Amino acid sequence: MKILVANLGSTSLKWRLFDFSNGAETLLHKGGFERVADYPKAIEDCLAALKDAGAIANESDLAAVGFKTVIAKGVTGCVRIDDRVLAAMEAFNGLAPAHNPPYLTGIRLFVRRVPGVPLVALFETAFYQFAPEPMMRYAVPPAWHDIGVRRWGFHGASHKFIAERSAQLLGRDDVARRAQSLYLDAGKSPVSAPDLRVISCHLGGSSSITGIRNGVAIGTSMGMSPQSGLPQNNRVGDLDAEALPYAVKTLGLTVAEAQRQLTQESGLKGLSGVSNDIRDITTAAEQGNAQARRALDVFVASARHWIGSYFFGMGGADAIVFTAGIGENRAEIRAAICANLDQLGIILDAEKNAATRSQEAVISAADSRVKVMVIPTNEELVVARETKRLLEAR
Ligand code: AMP
Repeated sequence: MKILVANLGSTSLKWRLFDFSNGAETLLHKGGFERVADYPKAIEDCLAALKDAGAIANESDLAAVGFKTVIAKGVTGCVRIDDRVLAAMEAFNGLAPAHNPPYLTGIRLFVRRVPGVPLVALFETAFYQFAPEPMMRYAVPPAWHDIGVRRWGFHGASHKFIAERSAQLLGRDDVARRAQSLYLDAGKSPVSAPDLRVISCHLGGSSSITGIRNGVAIGTSMGMSPQSGLPQNNRVGDLDAEALPYAVKTLGLTVAEAQRQLTQESGLKGLSGVSNDIRDITTAAEQGNAQARRALDVFVASARHWIGSYFFGMGGADAIVFTAGIGENRAEIRAAICANLDQLGIILDAEKNAATRSQEAVISAADSRVKVMVIPTNEELVVARETKRLLEAR
């Protein structure tokens, strides 16, 4: 069974083709285009690249195309894409302006180009469907909640990958199986006690931290939109609701301009005044740039805040996992986040931490009660796996 996963940006198309024949999970092909101006041509070139590489003979070899869609009004989980799903995504364009419109455009082009191939959406909100209501609800009047003003959560495919993989690495195949079948049996499959509590830290251009109990998310740092939680590369992260009207009035901004500044000129970029990339910010901080140092400090403080939230929320943790660009590659950020937590049973092994980059590793000391791990994420594989399960369940 060959499943193509298409990652659609406003000017990019990236893909991975997986083959699930004979019980294996094989990555057959991956590729992508940046600075795409002509989307139909990019899709044509993608299909041509798959054929040229011998990965497919023709489009009918594709069992499905899976998409890591972000958010839709009234729809979540892993679903077959139809007009209802597309309309639900369109209804929430405003919450994910960088993601929903390109996905809508791209999916509609795939509908036309490969009409016989099932198209499947795995929403980034899916992993939070079973989170307890008190962790996901804002204290707003019911009418606000009813129009969707609540925590939805994002980076679901990444955190779900971490839920499955961390359980496997910790010798808990029962929890890994539960996480794998989450969207089909509503997360109800039993685990053989005790609880497995994992705090997953997806730290990258966009960051979020999720508490995971027995393979199921119990809460996450991102709220109603991806503009929340930790400071993002150029997006603000958490902000008091009064700040927007106050800044609009005091700085004489329009609401649109204030929103632009919060989504493009804020976060690590706004704080550091240097860059939205942690590599440049770290270099500047090492050269004595105080603003850059502060940006790193704010990022670390926010990460510790959210890790602490789920440590309390789950009554402790068995593992803290770092993933994504910063989590996988920046040992000094991991060290700062885990500093002075020995009272909570969190002790890094400085040498193992420093030596770990983009590979699976346990980086905590032998006497650390909580295991600290690095696990490279694989969001596309999660999309492909869920797409396969959906096809097989039908
Ligand atoms: P992501 O969005 O997951 O690609 O993460 C982007 C962030 O991770 C940027 O701040 C990068 O500086 C950082 N990052 C990504 N890859 C590396 C790497 N190989 N070495 C150091 N930092 C990296």
